[in-house]
Amino acid sequence: MIDLAAQSFREIDQAVPPNKQSPTVIVGAGIFGLGTAPHLCKRGYTDVTVLDKQPYDETLYSYFKGADAASADMNKIVRSSYGFQKEYQDLSTETISEWHNWNAELKEGVTVPPGMSTKDAVFVHSFHVSLSTSVELPPWNLACIEAMEKAGYKDTQLATTNPRHREIVQQKGL
Ligand SMILES: Cc1cc2nc3c(=O)[nH]c(=O)nc-3n(C[C@H](O)[C@H](O)[C@H](O)COP(=O)(O)OP(=O)(O)OC[C@H]3O[C@@H](n4cnc5c(N)ncnc54)[C@H](O)[C@@H]3O)c2cc1C
Repeated sequence: MIDLAAQSFREIDQAVPPNKQSPTVIVGAGIFGLGTAPHLCKRGYTDVTVLDKQPYDETLYSYFKGADAASADMNKIVRSSYGFQKEYQDLSTETISEWHNWNAELKEGVTVPPGMSTKDAVFVHSFHVSLSTSVELPPWNLACIEAMEKAGYKDTQLATTNPRHREIVQQKGL
């Protein structure tokens, strides 16, 4: 019997990482492909090409011009609280600072992609409201509050069941 799984693990084990001058091709210019490219460049890869079947250089990701990838949307929501899933919380807090950096780059005219101007913002800091049918706060929401507090983001998740939180909500005019 041939153990194909063991064979492919051995191949992965023996794979030689590409050197930083090797031509690197990323297929798909959605957020993942496009996001990977600058990070490879920051890590010293010098020959990175992103390919896509869509002519984004012409359509500028406009849905109305046929760009139908999940990333080609009018807007996206990013949130940090993920209850018990701390890895998502960490990822999002890390990326939110990148979104702020990108806003600053746009405003200062450092990087202004085609179709955008220095008056645009790619990230708008906002808030969201979750509704529940139960009187008690569900465990997932409690976990959101606890995990965010532990990470240093106290009072960013407010529950109307908590009198102190209600005061903050009023003070903020929410
Ligand atoms: C309606 C909707 C709403 C969403 N809302 C949110 C949200 O609010 N917040 C959030 O975080 N996430 C949201 N998501 C999820 C998020 O959009 C996706 O996880 C993300 O955009 C996926 O990015 P991607 O780069 O992997 O894929 P895609 O954006 O799909 O990009 C894949 C790219 O590969 C190209 N491609 C495919 N096949 C080939 C090929 N054979 N050759 C060359 N190119 C090819 C496509 O043209 C496309 O450009 C939403 C998704 C949907 C569908």
